[in-house]
Amino acid sequence: MKKCMFEDFIDDYLLNRLVKNKENKFEEHYFNCPHCFGKMMERQEFISIVKNISTDTNAIVPRSSRGALQHGNPR
Ligand SMILES: [Zn+2]
Repeated sequence: MKKCMFEDFIDDYLLNRLVKNKENKFEEHYFNCPHCFGKMMERQEFISIVKNISTDTNAIVPRSSRGALQHGNPR
């Protein structure tokens, strides 16, 4: 199956990186393209999972590693 040329826009669109007129073009396109629409749903789910994980890790990791550095200094 041929890859749709708009597929490259999906991530940028979801991350709000597209300029306004590309964004409009892409929106017009994906409503009429089941391929992009499906991909878009997949990516959206993936991106929201990744974002949740990274905010969780940011909240947890720095605290514990900072504590380990302060108390575990070998000198
Ligand atoms: Zn498409």
